[in-house]
Amino acid sequence: MNVRLETHLSTLKGVGEVTERELARMGFVTVRDLLDYFPRRYDDFSALKPIAQLRPGLIAVRARVEDVAVRRAVRNRRMVITEAIVIDDTGSLKLTWFHAPYIADQLKTGEEYFFTGELKFKAGVFSVVQPQFERPSSIDRAGKISAIYSETAKINSKILRSLVRQCLPAVDELVDPLPEVVLSTQKLMPLAQAVRELHEPTDTKKLQQAQSRMAFGELFFHMLTSRVLREELETEPGIVVPFNQALAQEFVASLSFSLTNSQRRVSWQIFSDMERGVPMSRLLEGDVGSGKTLVAAFVALMAIRAGFQTAVMVPTVVLGTQHLKSFRDLLKPWGIRVELLASHLKSKQRLELTSAIQAGEVDIVIGTQAIITKNIQFPRLGLVVVDEQHRFGVNQRLSLKDKAGRLPHVLTMTATPIPRTLGLVAFGDLDVSLLTDMPPGRQPVQTHICPEEDRARVYAEIDKRLERGEQAYIVCPAIDVADPSGSRAVKQEMQRLSRTVFRHRRIGLLHGKLKPEEKDAVMTQFASGELDILVATTVIEVGVHVDKASVMLVESADRFGLATLHQLRGRVGRSDIASECYLFTTEDNSSRQRVGALARTNDGFRLAEIDLANRGAGQRFGVRQSGVADFRFASLHDTYQVKSAQKVVDSFLKQEKIVKYPQVIAVVNSLKAVTSLD
Ligand code: ADP
Ligand code: MG
Repeated sequence: MNVRLETHLSTLKGVGEVTERELARMGFVTVRDLLDYFPRRYDDFSALKPIAQLRPGLIAVRARVEDVAVRRAVRNRRMVITEAIVIDDTGSLKLTWFHAPYIADQLKTGEEYFFTGELKFKAGVFSVVQPQFERPSSIDRAGKISAIYSETAKINSKILRSLVRQCLPAVDELVDPLPEVVLSTQKLMPLAQAVRELHEPTDTKKLQQAQSRMAFGELFFHMLTSRVLREELETEPGIVVPFNQALAQEFVASLSFSLTNSQRRVSWQIFSDMERGVPMSRLLEGDVGSGKTLVAAFVALMAIRAGFQTAVMVPTVVLGTQHLKSFRDLLKPWGIRVELLASHLKSKQRLELTSAIQAGEVDIVIGTQAIITKNIQFPRLGLVVVDEQHRFGVNQRLSLKDKAGRLPHVLTMTATPIPRTLGLVAFGDLDVSLLTDMPPGRQPVQTHICPEEDRARVYAEIDKRLERGEQAYIVCPAIDVADPSGSRAVKQEMQRLSRTVFRHRRIGLLHGKLKPEEKDAVMTQFASGELDILVATTVIEVGVHVDKASVMLVESADRFGLATLHQLRGRVGRSDIASECYLFTTEDNSSRQRVGALARTNDGFRLAEIDLANRGAGQRFGVRQSGVADFRFASLHDTYQVKSAQKVVDSFLKQEKIVKYPQVIAVVNSLKAVTSLD
């Protein structure tokens, strides 16, 4: 039979009605669909070793089951543990599975299996946790690298391998979207060969080349799409906000302090962007407390005085409330009308506010993203400030055209330090400005990594501060009952503290499941000094600012990424009071060491780099938000590949006419749809 890309899977050998239905349920109808379903991982049986020669790390062994048993964990009775002892001629090995009692039925004592997984040495015992296994007879390519796909109950990897093998002749029909010049200059494996290698690897080296080629393709097209979108945006008519020097001087003179050098430089960059008549796309990155809000207010003033409105989008009402106050305070001398449009409003107030906005009477509207999406017409929207949240999709931007068909300027602000390579990928279509210096007089927060023994002493230190009228944050990872990992939860912690050590203090509770108005009420109480301690989850992470808060205690700190901890820590040390941050970690040495980076540096960028290195793909850096998490092969770790893809995109755009490459345009168009969503 001649297998083509569009051939129906039902015509393959071994596909009856049941399998066909199951495949369709998984989203596979044609050969093309299945070829595009890449293995989740590989079992490298070419590296089989006798048990006696195994070392910690990824292993593959062929061994006989000596014994298998199911029991309950000693400490946590809800945890079911399955254990097997397997042996070969050289030794024995313990295998462990959690919450999988059915394994005991699958493994037959006395039978041989291939086992793969990660061998660990812990508390003096070698063991492999959650290993995969297969009967030798079911391994059709024993001695080789075997593809493991994501399986369903009905279709396992063995079946998938046999189906994919029948599909492979069709790979030659696949059109390689990467231009020939790129393939040849970068010495990349052609698509057809790569797809073949991914499903049926010849050897480790070829497999790696195939993976690397796919990764390069993803990065190339992602970055190319960003650039194309950016260029398209720039052909849209923008709004001209002339620079008004007298106004700038008035603003600077109204402050009780002077601008930092970075604030001056960045404001100037933004003013020149807004003058150009091309829609601005700028990212303003600055550590917590570096004064981004002030820059936003400054440039908004310029836009408003030129006759335009500003929308400020915030992720939470808590932050919105704080911005409302900051913008009103900063812009008071100019009689600027600033309003918060959020769920705290009654429907009548809401209606009034909406019509005031639509009448052009409100200069600055602060709100969650709904202010833009909920069909509110801004008659003269000139500037959108996006603070601490998802990036703003191009489609959404295009929907903001004013009556004259002009697009507003967009300023995105974040305190999340974004490592450079990640920035290239996630924000390749934005110009980047950095606030590199802090307002003067700030003292770096002293950070301590604390073992459990320190607890009483730390509580005493905190209490001394409360006695002086200062305030404390106590942060826990969970909201309710501690999960099996033993992390503390805010509700229980709040109760415990208010009955014990801090029984004489006023304690508030803040977490994401509270209603917005409840959150607001608690935050307002804390900000006005009616509470001494705020027990909270990371909802206080972003942007919140209370002067008197000078000490923070983080429970189970190792549950957080370094960048998150750094942002949390930025909630204290916001005035001239010397501040402290206590991080409680588990006994585990490696997690304590990882968290220890916080005690050594206050540099958010440095911490983000370490985080990226430690934690891989880096969802903590807004990769998710930026819509690039769906890379199947590319790793943002691979600085070298990210940079080289960037260079190739640059020279491709410079030297080639993209219109000559219909297959490139097709991919870019399909990615545009993805990138533009949010
Ligand atoms: P960010 O949003 O970057 O975390 P903010 O804009 O909230 O920081 O600023 C933090 C605090 O620093 C605010 O109280 C603000 O008034 C103050 N601030 C901003 N710029 C300066 C400056 N140049 N000098 C002194 N204080 C400043
Ligand atoms: Mg801020």
